[in-house]
Amino acid sequence: MAAVPEYFGSMVFDDRVMKANLSAEVYQSLKKTIDEGAKLNLGVANAVAAAMKDWAVAQGATHFTHWFQPLTGITAEKHDSFITPSPDGGVIMEFSGRELIRGEPDASSFPSGGLRATFEARGYTAWDPTSYAFIKGKTLCIPTAFCSYSGEALDKKTPLLRSMEALNRQALRILRLFGNDTVKRVSTAVGPEQEYFLVDAKMYERRRDLRFTGRTLFGAKPPKGQEMDDHYFGVIKPRVAAFMEDLNEELWKLGVLAKTQHNEVAPAQHELAPIYTTTNIATDHNQLTMEIMQKVAARHGLVCLLHEKPFVGVNGSGKHNNWSISTDAGVNLLSPGDTPYENAQFLLFLCAVIKAVDDYQDLLRISVATAGNDHRLGANEAPPAVVSIFLGDELNGVLEAIDHETPYQGAARTKMKLGVDILPKFSKDTTDRNRTSPFAFTGNKFEFRMVGSSDSIACANIMINTAVAESLKLYADRLEGAEDFPAALQELLRQTIREHKRIIFNGNGYDDAWITEATEKRGLLNYRTTPDCVPHLLDEKNVRLLTSHGVLTLEELTSRYEVMMENYCKTILIEANTMVDMARTEILPAVESFALDTARGAAAKRELVPGCPCGYESELVKKLSALTDQMAAKTAELEQAVLEVSSAGDIAQEAAAVRDVILCKMGQLRLACDEAETLTPKKYWPFPTYGDLLFGV
Ligand code: ADP
Ligand code: MG
Repeated sequence: MAAVPEYFGSMVFDDRVMKANLSAEVYQSLKKTIDEGAKLNLGVANAVAAAMKDWAVAQGATHFTHWFQPLTGITAEKHDSFITPSPDGGVIMEFSGRELIRGEPDASSFPSGGLRATFEARGYTAWDPTSYAFIKGKTLCIPTAFCSYSGEALDKKTPLLRSMEALNRQALRILRLFGNDTVKRVSTAVGPEQEYFLVDAKMYERRRDLRFTGRTLFGAKPPKGQEMDDHYFGVIKPRVAAFMEDLNEELWKLGVLAKTQHNEVAPAQHELAPIYTTTNIATDHNQLTMEIMQKVAARHGLVCLLHEKPFVGVNGSGKHNNWSISTDAGVNLLSPGDTPYENAQFLLFLCAVIKAVDDYQDLLRISVATAGNDHRLGANEAPPAVVSIFLGDELNGVLEAIDHETPYQGAARTKMKLGVDILPKFSKDTTDRNRTSPFAFTGNKFEFRMVGSSDSIACANIMINTAVAESLKLYADRLEGAEDFPAALQELLRQTIREHKRIIFNGNGYDDAWITEATEKRGLLNYRTTPDCVPHLLDEKNVRLLTSHGVLTLEELTSRYEVMMENYCKTILIEANTMVDMARTEILPAVESFALDTARGAAAKRELVPGCPCGYESELVKKLSALTDQMAAKTAELEQAVLEVSSAGDIAQEAAAVRDVILCKMGQLRLACDEAETLTPKKYWPFPTYGDLLFGV
C-alpha cells in the first residue's frame, strides 16, 4: 500500500486537481465562487464539468450523482451515467455545466413535512461548490442543496449554509468595531467525534430488533457489563483493528481527516475523531464517515451500530460537536489572545456564546431531539437534557471579576479592566476536566455533547450558529453607536454575565441535585423527551430568530416540526411492532417449549420414581407459565395500544400518546421477557444475548 500522503484525497476533486486540470481563468472564477460566493457563469460551469468528468472517468467512474441531505438525516443519491450515444452507434462520456449546477431527482418520497405538494414533487438539487466533489465506488458525487421549486429548503445543508452566512455577517461587524478591516470572512469550524458500536454480523442477522430498529428491544443484563472500565482506551482487538485500518484508508482517500480512534467505555463501543474543518464540509464528511463505517464493517463480517442507545444499561453513543469561530486569516476567535484588545474581543465572543446558549437552550435541545437520543440523554455517562455551559474555574474567575468589578484572583491578580489587562492563557488541561457538561468550553472551542451518534450535525450547528449570530447582532447594534467603546464594551459584558450566569454550571452534570437546582432555582429548561421540546421550535421567539437571520422561513420551520414529530412516532411504532412480533413468534414459543420439556421431564421422573416430588420442576414451570401469561397479555396490550394511537388526533397528540402509552407498554413487555430470558437455557433462547453481542467480536 502506498504511503498515506500519496493517496490522501485521491478520490476528491480538490484544489490540487482543480489547479492541475482547469485553465487559470476558469480556476480563478471557480475560486471566487468557492471563497466569496460569487455567481458562476455557464461557461465556467461547462469547463469545470468537463474537467470533473475527465478526471472522474480516468479514476474509473461511470456515473454521477447529486449527493444531498434530505430531512431523513441520511444522504440521498440518484445515479446517472455519463454515457451519451454517438452517431456511429457507440457512446461518449458527457457531463455538462447544467448537469453539474442543477439536478432534478424524482424525490417525491422524501419527507417534506407538507412543504411540497405532490403535484410539484420534483424538488431540485443545486451544486454547493464549497464542498468538493468526490468519487464513491464508480460514481462522481456532487454535494448539493435540495430545494422545492418555490425555493424552500427541503434539506439540512441549505439552512446550515445560511446560518454560517448569518454568523459571518454579524461577526464581521464586531471585528470592524475592533478595528479589523482586513478580515473578509468569518466561518465556524467543527470536529465531530463519532461514537459507534461494532457487533458480529451473524449475530446481528439473528436479531430482528437490531435489523429493523437499530437497537435491542429485549435483553437481560449480562453478568459482565462495563463496570470494570476495562474497555475504555483498551487494546483494540485484531478484528476491530483491521476494520479501523480499512476505514481510515477509505476515509483518507475521500479527503476525510480521520485522526484518532480508540475503544470507548462500553464493551464493543469505539470512537473516531477527525481533524476539524469548516462546518459545512465537516457535516458532509461526517455523513460520509457514517456511511463508510457501515460499508467497511460489512467487509469485516461486522455491523456498525450508530444508534444512540443500542443496549440498555451500558453507555450510549453520542457525537461531540467541537465548535469554534475563526477568520479567513486563521485566527480562532474563541482563543484568548496575547494583547488586551484580543482579550477583550475574545471575551465578547465568549459572552455572545453564553448569551446564545441561555436564550436558546430550547433550540439546542430540539436540535438533538430524536426517539433514539431520548434514551441516551441523562442516562449512563451522557449529558442531561438540561442545557448548561461549563467554563472551568479559571475563566469563571475572570467573568466573576468582571461582574463584581473586583480584582481577578487568578495568576495575574490584577483588576480586570478591559483594554488594559492581559488574560491568562488557558491551557486545555485546566479546562477540559468536566466531561459531564452538555456545552463545555475546552480552551479554544466549545464542545456540544448532546448530539446523538446517528444525528446529522447540521441541525445542531444551524442552531448554534444562528443563536450566536443573534447575540453578535445585538452587541454590534449597541456598540456601533457607542461613544466610549471600551466603557460600553465593559458594561455590555458585565450585563451579559449578570443576566446569563444561570446557564454556567461547573459542577457534576450527572448529579440529580443539579437537575433540581437547574430547574427549580435557576429556571433552566428540562425537556426530557422529543415531544416535550419539538413543539417549541414554533415558539414566537424561535421563529423570530430563525426567520430574521434568513436561516429558515416559517414554512420551513413548520415542515421540520412535522418531520421531527412524525419520525419520533414512526420510529417508536416500528419498535413496538417489532417487539410484538418477536415476543409472539420467537420468545413465547421458546419459553413455552422449555416449560413443556421441563414438565415432560418431571412426568418422566415420576414414572421412574413414583412419588418423586419434582419440586424444582414444578416451581420452574409455575414461574415460566406465569411469565408466558404475562408476556402474552402485555403483547396483546401493546398491539392494541399501537392500533389506538394512530387515531389519537394531530401529530402532537399522537406523539404524546406514543411517549406516554406505547413506551410504557414496551417497557412492561420487555421486563417480562427479560426475566424469562434469565430462566431459560441458552439452547432454547431464540437469538443472541447481550453477553453474546457485547463480547462477541
Ligand atoms: P478531546 O476532546 O478528546 O480532548 P481534542 O481536544 O484533541 O480531543 O479534539 C477533539 C475534537 O475536537 C477533534 O475532532 C478536533 O479536531 C476538534 N477540535 C480541536 N480544535 C478545534 C477547533 N478549534 N475547532 C473545532 N474543533 C476542534
Ligand atoms: Mg472531546
